[in-house]
Amino acid sequence: EHLSNMIAAGEVVERPANIVKECVENSIDAQATSISIEAWEGGIDKLVITDDGLGMAAEDTALAFVRHATSKILDEDDLFNIQTMGFRGEALPSIAAVAHVELKTNNGQEATEVVYDYGEKIKEEATSCPAGTRIEVTGLFYKTPARFKYLRKSNYEFSVIAELVNKLALSYPHIRFSLSHNGRLVFQTSGKGNILEIIYQMYGKEVASAAEAFDSRTLDFHIHGYAIQPKINRATKYFMFISVNHRLVRSLPLQNAIIDAYHEFMPPNRYPIFLIDIEVDPQLVDVNVHPNKWEIRLTKQNDLVELIRQTIAGLFEEKLKT
Ligand code: ADP
Ligand code: MG
Repeated sequence: EHLSNMIAAGEVVERPANIVKECVENSIDAQATSISIEAWEGGIDKLVITDDGLGMAAEDTALAFVRHATSKILDEDDLFNIQTMGFRGEALPSIAAVAHVELKTNNGQEATEVVYDYGEKIKEEATSCPAGTRIEVTGLFYKTPARFKYLRKSNYEFSVIAELVNKLALSYPHIRFSLSHNGRLVFQTSGKGNILEIIYQMYGKEVASAAEAFDSRTLDFHIHGYAIQPKINRATKYFMFISVNHRLVRSLPLQNAIIDAYHEFMPPNRYPIFLIDIEVDPQLVDVNVHPNKWEIRLTKQNDLVELIRQTIAGLFEEKLKT
């Protein structure tokens, strides 16, 4: 009972970007090397996420839409040892409950199509499709007007999706991402693992050429990434990409550590662009603080904050003298 509370659903789906996040995470779990995200009208009218991953067996497609049928959490200890991003088995059921969902999947042996309409399965049959999985979501919140009302203008909803896909592309530079809006390609990465190429795509040449690579470690933490010199950066807000063991996270203490460290070197009205991946023993990470999986807690966080502070100071102290 305690455990089921710990994994209890918040609302997984609030806006189209949540659907993109859940589907892309599933694609990554399925070892996709290429993921395409197509949105129409901010994803409110239609979202299509296509991957070239492992696909699903016919019998698993039925289970995938049953809440917690796929939950990989067996006991409380497992919460601290999560290797895949999906672990609650509630994304697909939640999405299928509030939209029309058509899923086609091919695991190399068989291809299956499943269609759900606002929680009801209306089709499950053999089909033919390329290897991998394609999920099409239309009519989001059509039958729940109270929630439809909370969606913003399509341009805003698309900007949330675009920011998310940018972050995912940065965290998974070895995966080829493409994002389109209303049939127009907006963003594409090569999947060749080149983070600078992605920074270039997002912020332009000047920022990319000012990026400083860093790589440092303590016994517990290995941090690496890029810091953009605050002098050059013309961003009008903070861009901090923090991932822990390659999973994007949100952490106020770490964000503050970065801002503090930058502060000394930052001219007024300039903001850091900072990308950091933290490699750490999964035993030191609790990712299940919130059902949306963004929030984390770290053991020995103070050591990490100090490592980040020293690393940033080391990068910019020299630069300022010259
Ligand atoms: P979770 O990811 O927490 O297991 P989801 O509801 O997100 O739960 O997905 C349910 C299951 O459906 C996954 O565990 C996986 O087995 C399968 N699945 C979903 N999307 C894909 C995909 N793109 N490729 C392969 N399998 C998938
Ligand atoms: Mg999932």
